[in-house]
Amino acid sequence: MTEAVPHYRVAVIGTGFAGIGMAVRLRQAGLDDFVVLERADDIGGTWRDNSYPGAACDVPSHLYSFSFALNPGWSRTFSPQPEIRDYMRRVAGEHGIHRHVRYGSDVKAARWEPADNRWRIETASGTVTAQFLISGAGPLADPVLPDIKGIDTFEGRLFHSAEWDHDHDLTGRKVAVIGTGASAIQFVPRIQPKVGRLSLFQRTAPWVMFRHDRDITRLESWLYRNIPGAQQVARKSIYWGRETYILGFAKNPRLLGIVERLGRANIDRSVKDPELRRKLTPTFRAGCKRILMSNDYYPALARPNVDVVTDGIVEIRPNSVVTRDASGSETEHEVDTIILGTGFQVTDPPIAHRIHDARGRSLAEHWGSDVQAFRGTTVNGFPNVFVLAGPNTGLGHTSQVFMIEAQIRYTMEALKFACRNRVDRLEPRAEAQRAYNEMVHRSMRGTVWVTGGCDSWYLNEEGRNTTLWPTFTWNYALRTRWFDPHNYDLRRIRSARRDEAAAGSAA
Ligand code: NAP
Repeated sequence: MTEAVPHYRVAVIGTGFAGIGMAVRLRQAGLDDFVVLERADDIGGTWRDNSYPGAACDVPSHLYSFSFALNPGWSRTFSPQPEIRDYMRRVAGEHGIHRHVRYGSDVKAARWEPADNRWRIETASGTVTAQFLISGAGPLADPVLPDIKGIDTFEGRLFHSAEWDHDHDLTGRKVAVIGTGASAIQFVPRIQPKVGRLSLFQRTAPWVMFRHDRDITRLESWLYRNIPGAQQVARKSIYWGRETYILGFAKNPRLLGIVERLGRANIDRSVKDPELRRKLTPTFRAGCKRILMSNDYYPALARPNVDVVTDGIVEIRPNSVVTRDASGSETEHEVDTIILGTGFQVTDPPIAHRIHDARGRSLAEHWGSDVQAFRGTTVNGFPNVFVLAGPNTGLGHTSQVFMIEAQIRYTMEALKFACRNRVDRLEPRAEAQRAYNEMVHRSMRGTVWVTGGCDSWYLNEEGRNTTLWPTFTWNYALRTRWFDPHNYDLRRIRSARRDEAAAGSAA
């Protein structure tokens, strides 16, 4: 006897900020017929996985949190990872989300079944079907392992920062760190005092600013708990302060010269060696890649047990990393541990290879390098799908949670519209999607992300920025405030069937 496949109105993938926020809003709307598919055995997404030493948010916590669940108990202005993970667990618990989550349910494949207007989703824990599929898998879900010759031959311990090996004691070891992005600049200062020798392999020097991080005082916490609106005021002032960054990033990148002066001053304050200063000084416009924030990164690099290696890596051998300088001469750096701070599969997310249209073509194939969606959320050719943290919804200047909440609002409006109007299938019109993306890329022209002279993961192979929202976030929130049915092909299958039946009985 074959087992019945559970069917839901909505299936949500992932339990990061996107998945949890979506689940909360579904419950608040009384739309209880949903499942959340989580590949791990706990919630939290990237804030569960990235437990490396020093992991913290570089956006202030009053803003990097849900608008419906402000937390007066943040301990610091920039909260550490365990606190954010606990916050997410608490929000999920308070809103009764856990009972909707199917753990150990890595989504292997989802396929649209046009005859039934639903998605068939195969997961590691079995198959489910759902009328609507919402991906909250996020762009920072799957680590990039660099394609370096010989990496498989390494005989020491090698791991990615998102899969930190807490059992591997680094005391006294010869450690290679590959990458100098947002993750590496946080864990390098934590491991530097412990390790014997640290070789930091830097391909591109990032801009690193001073971080105004401090404890949140008891008085502040008291005010947030007891004075209505006090935390909202703090949150709004951070929000609007961060929105002004767009004036430099997107409207007039020359303003970023001020940021660059601050960045150079940050290097000069901690690094006395002119050769090291030269290595650490970026050669592109600040903001072209994510601007990083740390007070202890440069001081750590100035310590005698650290080598900043800027020659390119050509090979990894069983006990070393080999680099080659401009003259072609090679140096072998002996190491027993390699830590990869090499980022995530952002522009080619694995989940896009697993969602298939009725003909079996994956979303990734459909997109090719031209990753795009309507309002960053719905995709022509893929009915009843919503992609949270989708194309051109990423940010370089403020809280991603703000964008995710805007998308969740839009998705909820679409689902409510579908329920009210008995719509079984909705899909954005090709011309609406095209016009929307033309607008996005018109706004992108002249921004630092495409003119700043760097090569970043924001850009696809053709140099198009398919990841970031190009302007103020309030602009995106306005565009996604209401569902816009005129931009969609809608099918009212049930009513069509009723009409057919009525016509049949009349005949
Ligand atoms: P990332 O920003 O993509 O940085 C990856 C680093 O690895 C870069 O320095 C890159 O060099 C280097 N790299 C990649 N492949 C390499 C290779 N084959 N050889 C040498 N170097 C190589 O990754 P991440 O630091 O993990 O951060 C990813 C994103 O996570 C961030 O942009 C941010 O959105 C998020 N994040 C946020 C926080 C937070 O506080 N909110 C903290 C951590 C991470 P190139 O620059 O030359 O490419």
